[in-house]
Amino acid sequence: MKAEAYMERGERALLHTYNRTPIVFERGEGVYLYDVDGKKYLDFAAGIAVVGLGYGNPEFEAALKNQVEKLTHTSNLYYNVPAIEAAEKLRKVSGMDRVFFTNSGTEAIEGAIKTARKYAMKKDGTKDHEIIAMDHSFHGRSMGSLSVTGNPHYQEDFKPLLSGIRFAEYNNLESVKSLVNEKTCAILLEPIQGEGGIYPADPEFLQGLRKLCDEKDILLIFDEIQCGMGRSGSMFACQKAGVRPDVMAVAKALGNGLPIGSFLTTEKAAVLVPGDHGTTYGGNPLVCAGASAVLDIFEEAHIIDNVNRVGAYLWEKLEALKNQYPVVKDHRGVGLIQGLEFTRAPGEIAAAVIKKGVILITAEHNVLRFVPPLVIREEHVDEMIQALEEVLGEQG
Ligand SMILES: *Cc1c(COP(=O)(O)O)cnc(C)c1O
Repeated sequence: MKAEAYMERGERALLHTYNRTPIVFERGEGVYLYDVDGKKYLDFAAGIAVVGLGYGNPEFEAALKNQVEKLTHTSNLYYNVPAIEAAEKLRKVSGMDRVFFTNSGTEAIEGAIKTARKYAMKKDGTKDHEIIAMDHSFHGRSMGSLSVTGNPHYQEDFKPLLSGIRFAEYNNLESVKSLVNEKTCAILLEPIQGEGGIYPADPEFLQGLRKLCDEKDILLIFDEIQCGMGRSGSMFACQKAGVRPDVMAVAKALGNGLPIGSFLTTEKAAVLVPGDHGTTYGGNPLVCAGASAVLDIFEEAHIIDNVNRVGAYLWEKLEALKNQYPVVKDHRGVGLIQGLEFTRAPGEIAAAVIKKGVILITAEHNVLRFVPPLVIREEHVDEMIQALEEVLGEQG
């Protein structure tokens, strides 16, 4: 067992900020992962909704190899071709106007928050604006993103946070309206809450927020970091409701595992100007060549069609489990972002399924989360369901 020795070294060297599952992964192939001892796992987590194209996609790898040999970094003091191309492709699929590349999701949210504050400051010259975010939301771990994350458990030890953040009830337009005042500069939410337990927004909620923001000249910010990039069965989840935000945050599957995120703005919300914001690495040619290839592959390989077909199949199978096992309380989601809510914390269930060679992760409020690579097929769903059913049969 090589894993034991690695894990011991890891626990000595790495800051202990995770209770990690005792597996040391070595390589991936398609929708399967292999650990250092050669054991094979079907991956239904995709590195937390990141590896949309799965492992070893030849076109993605060729784009990276090609770029690594040419140029990996220039800084944003100059232009680089992959960043321009990736930005053009993102504009096209999102319907947004302008793109700022970051290195992560949380940085995309930081940029969105700065955009909202600047927009309001330009409008009325005051500096005490408020942002409305949602209960049970997740937007990242840096201080700004943490401040708008509606989970006191993550925030408690790190106060003081940003001031002027108010939390509304998700899917409750009246709750949001009751918090709006003349200081409100933005309403921020995930069109499908991910970490919070897979809660999709009602289309009417998103449409109502759009109308409210238009009436009050408030920016509507969508965090599509987890639910975007095809996972919902549309390129972005908000497109299903026909709602275009003023600012959109994207990351996770954008780079298929490369550290890249972005915030996109409409022309109206493109208020950040030279001196307002920056990043050393963000938008570097290497990660942008990767993201650019990802966006090409999405189109050529009809990734979204696959999400809709296999997502519907997964829905059927999980509904059947819900109907059969009383420990399953609810089933939510769409496309390849689905969750089963249990009557108790499903940590043990996930652990037992992993022992059987299928990687599953959990989310808040007793939820088992299904966010596989977007290239998954029906036969992989069957394989996962069989392992999960065995465990449910054993554990009840
Ligand atoms: C993962 C996630 C983030 C944070 O992204 P990082 O890359 O971990 O900083 C923000 N919002 C949502 C909805 C996420 O799922």
